[in-house]
Amino acid sequence: MRKDGVFIAVDVDDAVVADSALAAKLVEVCPVDIYALAQGPPATLDIVEANLDECVLCRLCLDAAPPGTIKVLKLYDSESVLV
Ligand code: SF4
Repeated sequence: MRKDGVFIAVDVDDAVVADSALAAKLVEVCPVDIYALAQGPPATLDIVEANLDECVLCRLCLDAAPPGTIKVLKLYDSESVLV
């Protein structure tokens, strides 16, 4: 699932979207509420488009998920990926 703001896009692997426990963890770690739980059951991950540009590039979501399963893209910088 990918959603785009004006400056930031977030791309999350389908396996992460479908993982309720991981989804809950992402909701917890993101300081600006970019992640939310979609209506279940089972609960899945949603990306809150309206909050995407609030991303502070803190990497907490990257650390919470298996490597490479979440990409934070800087649309203002040729879609460079936050690593
Ligand atoms: S890098 Fe930080 S602010 Fe940006 S989506 Fe991930 S947890 Fe949220």
